[in-house]
Amino acid sequence: MLQLYDMNNQIDIVALLTQKGRDYQCTECKGKVFNQKHVAREVAAMESPNGQKIRGYLPVYICNECGTMIKESWMPDEKEEEPTAE
Ligand SMILES: [Zn+2]
Repeated sequence: MLQLYDMNNQIDIVALLTQKGRDYQCTECKGKVFNQKHVAREVAAMESPNGQKIRGYLPVYICNECGTMIKESWMPDEKEEEPTAE
C-alpha cells in the first residue's frame, strides 16, 4: 500500500494519481501519452508586479500521437522547477 501523505502532511501527488487517478485522454485522438515541451512567455513591464519585463518558460504537454497540446487550465502547477531567463 502506497503512502498517501508525507511527513509534512502534504499530498503525495504521485501516490494519489497512481491509486485513484483517471487517465487524461487527448481531446483529438484519445491518446494517453504526452511529451513535455516548453513555451517561452514574456510579461510586459506594465503588467509585471515589479515593473520590469519578465521572461520565462512554462511546461506544456503534447500528445505523443497527434501533437495536440493539453489545455493550459488542466496543467499541473510546476512553477518551482521552471528555469527562468532574462
Ligand atoms: Zn492526440
